[in-house]
Amino acid sequence: MIPRTLFTEEHDMFRDAVRRFIEVEITPFHEHWEKAGVVPRELWLKAGESGLLCCNIPEEYGGPGADFLYSVVLHEEMAKAMATGPGFAVHSDMVATYIYKFGSEEQKQHWLPKMVAGEAIGALGLTEPGAGSDLKAIQTRAVQDGDDYVINGQKVYISNGQLCDLVVLACKTDPKAGSRGMTFIIVESDREGFERGRNLEKIGLKAQDTSELFFQDVRVPVSNRIGEEGQGFKIAMHNLAHERITIAVSALAQAEAALRWTCEYTRERKAFGQAIADFQNTRFKLAQLTAEVRALRVFVDECIGLATKDELDSTDAAMAKLLATELLGRTADECLQFFGGYGYMLEYPIARLYIDCRVRRIAGGSSEIMKEIISREILKP
Ligand SMILES: Cc1cc2nc3c(=O)[nH]c(=O)nc-3n(C[C@H](O)[C@H](O)[C@H](O)COP(=O)(O)OP(=O)(O)OC[C@H]3O[C@@H](n4cnc5c(N)ncnc54)[C@H](O)[C@@H]3O)c2cc1C
Repeated sequence: MIPRTLFTEEHDMFRDAVRRFIEVEITPFHEHWEKAGVVPRELWLKAGESGLLCCNIPEEYGGPGADFLYSVVLHEEMAKAMATGPGFAVHSDMVATYIYKFGSEEQKQHWLPKMVAGEAIGALGLTEPGAGSDLKAIQTRAVQDGDDYVINGQKVYISNGQLCDLVVLACKTDPKAGSRGMTFIIVESDREGFERGRNLEKIGLKAQDTSELFFQDVRVPVSNRIGEEGQGFKIAMHNLAHERITIAVSALAQAEAALRWTCEYTRERKAFGQAIADFQNTRFKLAQLTAEVRALRVFVDECIGLATKDELDSTDAAMAKLLATELLGRTADECLQFFGGYGYMLEYPIARLYIDCRVRRIAGGSSEIMKEIISREILKP
């Protein structure tokens, strides 16, 4: 196998610590959290204490100041263990990154140490009932009134929606200005007029609190704005490449895990006097999928290397997300088949993977939007 060359001994040590944390603090409780529809706040505090949150935030804001590879290690291990409940990626790689890269010094000093410690949980509010892929079409409105913004609108499918203490909220500040009329504003969850709606019932990711959020005449100071007025679209585009490689990292790790579980299972399980792995159909399908996953591993690792240097462009990030999530979907489906009836039982990780991975082709930009981004680049005159 082509060896992975990205990680140092320190990364490997961090990987061991992450695995132990997941084994002790997450896996034994995950089923219970799936019934509850949410993970407990204490888990966030423990993750903070163990240095698992906001790995990339520098020491001056309370973070470990580690490179992106530490986030990669965390996401790979969480994905492989099917620890899909805790919304650490949105919190650390999106919300904290928005604040760190584009926020004011005051915002960084105020929020980042608490986010590193797990004392403040972040959510990112882009999607609305009427606008997801077409971000420019959002309706949530922020109108300046003296030193405040007054915000009205609603968001949907917001990860960490029930737990969040702050939402980095996409608002329209100038509805006539198209993509230049969008601005990000931090809204604290204890502001008057902020209301959490339903914790939405989903087909998978049962332990994740994906919610509706409502904003009625919510007043926040102008100093809660991230960057300049009208910069929102640019900020979102910058961070989406980062978000998309993060999704590709988890998706590919899960495809690798699915193949591993399936090789193990088909070697053990017997039918017609032989192991399932001995049927040519099994061997050929697993060989084909493994070849595709390994080839993609090389491309995704190359993208991870670029992202670590902050050099990954949006087209390559879109390609990584498109290919990894589509291949994961196919791998989960084909692997589940080899488990027969057991594959349909939730006690088998392959069953949960099959359900949980479906969203990866939708959230963070759908496969169709990834193809739009790629084709725009390759066909530009
Ligand atoms: C579990 C979960 C968690 C989420 N977490 C968050 C979160 O934390 N924060 C947040 O803001 N959002 C979140 N989302 C929202 C997610 O990012 C959106 O669902 C996604 O961007 C798609 O938007 P939409 O649902 O409005 O679909 P639509 O935009 O309505 O798209 C519907 C279909 O049309 C296709 N389509 C749209 N435009 C085009 C086009 N130009 N060409 C071809 N096809 C097109 C899409 O690909 C899709 O198949 C989450 C969603 C889920 C399910």
